[in-house]
Amino acid sequence: MRCHLCLSISWQSLCKNCLKTILKPSPSKRVLEDGLIVYSVYSYKNIKNLLHTKHTYHGAKIFSELTKYALLPLVKTFTCKDIYSLPIDDHTRSGYSHTAIIAHELREVIKPLYGKLRAKNRTRYSGKKLYIREREKRDFNLKCKENLDIVLIDDIVTTGNTLREAHAICKKNNINVIFAVTLANAKEYK
Ligand SMILES: [Zn+2]
Repeated sequence: MRCHLCLSISWQSLCKNCLKTILKPSPSKRVLEDGLIVYSVYSYKNIKNLLHTKHTYHGAKIFSELTKYALLPLVKTFTCKDIYSLPIDDHTRSGYSHTAIIAHELREVIKPLYGKLRAKNRTRYSGKKLYIREREKRDFNLKCKENLDIVLIDDIVTTGNTLREAHAICKKNNINVIFAVTLANAKEYK
């Protein structure tokens, strides 16, 4: 196949050269207004075009490769014994869920709890500005046992509204959110 970025022949959707150069991780840490810490490995502008593949056939591979390459090594630096991951709204669109893929690729460190945190508000915001996507309440439904230690997973953090809403429903249900991870941080795109 060809690399999605440089179009050179590659075994993977993203070639080694692109991973080492333009896709070199640039980890960041944000603390949201409610105290939730969010770790990300890319700035949104650097992987914007790749994140837009998420509803396409190639998207699943690209999300998986970026997670293995950039996010997994970061998560491995934390002590994650007996910690679970909770992918945000991991229902299937276009045959797969991008947050479930991220959770799956982190499974050797944090054990995924699939299908536990689903949004009742399913408005699609593709093509709309990021802050509009995060402005509306997702109205989450949480099905989880109490007293678990979890890490929230999303593909991108913009205003932080979605993660804060997920954090709030976890707290309400006695689930302890240790931190959140996303592939991209779009703080500058508020
Ligand atoms: Zn390439």
